[in-house]
Amino acid sequence: MTTTAKAVKSYRNYINGQFVEAKETFPVYDPATEEVIASVAVADAAEVDRAVKAARAAFDSGPWATTTAQDRGRILFKLAEKVRANAAMLAELESRNTGKPIVEAEFDIADVATCFEYYGGLANKVTGSVNPVPANALSFTMREPVGVAGQIIPWNYPLLMAAWKLGPAIAAGCCCVLKPAEQTPLTAMELANWLEEAGLPPGVVNIINGVGETTGAALVTHAGVDKIAFTGSAAVGKIIVKAAADTLKRVTLELGGKSPNVFFADADWEAAVDGALFGVFINQGEVCSAGSRILVEKKIYSKFVEAMAEKAKRIKLGPPLSRETKMGPLVSKEQYDRVSSYLALGKSEAKTAIGGGRPREFAKGYYVEPTIFYDVDNSARIAREEIFGPVASVIPFDGEGEAIRIANDTPYGLAGAVWTRDIYKAFRVVKSMRAGIVWVNHMQPTYVEAPWGGYKQSGFGRELGPWGMEEYLETKQVFVNLDEAPIGWY
Ligand code: NDP
Repeated sequence: MTTTAKAVKSYRNYINGQFVEAKETFPVYDPATEEVIASVAVADAAEVDRAVKAARAAFDSGPWATTTAQDRGRILFKLAEKVRANAAMLAELESRNTGKPIVEAEFDIADVATCFEYYGGLANKVTGSVNPVPANALSFTMREPVGVAGQIIPWNYPLLMAAWKLGPAIAAGCCCVLKPAEQTPLTAMELANWLEEAGLPPGVVNIINGVGETTGAALVTHAGVDKIAFTGSAAVGKIIVKAAADTLKRVTLELGGKSPNVFFADADWEAAVDGALFGVFINQGEVCSAGSRILVEKKIYSKFVEAMAEKAKRIKLGPPLSRETKMGPLVSKEQYDRVSSYLALGKSEAKTAIGGGRPREFAKGYYVEPTIFYDVDNSARIAREEIFGPVASVIPFDGEGEAIRIANDTPYGLAGAVWTRDIYKAFRVVKSMRAGIVWVNHMQPTYVEAPWGGYKQSGFGRELGPWGMEEYLETKQVFVNLDEAPIGWY
């Protein structure tokens, strides 16, 4: 592995308002060149403990407890300003570190700022309620922050996932220990540079790095943490639920999926072909809600597969920083190997319309061709397991009933989409789909104002909008006796 000394930057963990040295570091790569672009400090168990204690102290006895909701909102607005002022740098870093096209990274960074602004605005809109108890009492509810939140995020939308976690937590008055994915910690570490300037007292937000099985696990089991907010794979989600059980932490899980994208024969043709490709190939297919099961009505099936394959030939693979690029490399060698093993499996389980390997034009980088498998049976592994790469499984169906049955025949329930011009059919399918989000005649748009999260094994809890803030709040009931007479029971 060659390293370019010029480009390698060192990052330290951010604990209690300080960047701290560590005994060990790990390398971070550019997946397009396979070169090391940064070195990042590892937080061992002792450092995780320091970070949690800093968050605990900030929550229990620091100035944060008396920081007003208005001021928490202002802090988030300042963070958003910093992100917007540094958007070009952040987008470039995100693109280099993840392999995603720069144009997509620019959208992500804009969404990061919007997320902070949204929760900045929501911070002072949280209110309790008065409860209709009998006349001799007054009962009302107060909303209070959950406490210290351990937040663990994946590598596909690094800074955006950090914003989805930090925004509502700060607005609610929680303190945070955030652990980015080991492959992509760089933009979150850049954000750390602005936390103090934005007005966050030391310890309110700590950002620590390391491997999930050690650094992440130490956070999940730490008795000083009240809540774990996790985004990642279902497999790790299950480990986290078990590990959090001993301390009965609140847990929210945003996990993966195998989302159905359903096309009826009466769908708008051009929009449908486009939507099938966009649904599965955006961000190299490294999307939790990827429409990786493409269900197509038999009447249009053959023509649709052909049209998809024809259009997919035009997807421009290239260096992430080129503005022409529509698909970059996968995030890491590990992910490249994983996706490659599914490509081999797919060839034995179905027919290949396009792709199926590594594009010849790249000597380096973890590039994979956009791949479309068709005549896939829904029982095949490529139709059941999350591949998390640019791999589509096209499945034929006959009529609405069969479409719904196949769409729901999955352990996951994050997302789904339906394409038709028949409004009655569209809404019948919407009602029948067991998923946390269903799009009609589109797939993937996500807005901070609307909820995000899964049914079934795609997790529990919701992010974004007021729903995301709810997950960081406790409800306290206050009962006031208005009757001066003794209880008179004994
Ligand atoms: P992983 O589940 O492998 O990892 C997610 C995070 O968990 C990483 O920070 C990882 O650390 C950490 N981790 C791993 N093991 C443990 C452990 N035992 N204890 C505590 N933390 C641990 O997912 P990926 O990073 O591979 O991300 C892809 C997955 O994320 C996909 O399944 C995707 O669907 C899902 N996802 C879901 C979204 C949603 O909103 N529903 C959004 C985006 C992604 P490290 O890797 O650094 O070792």
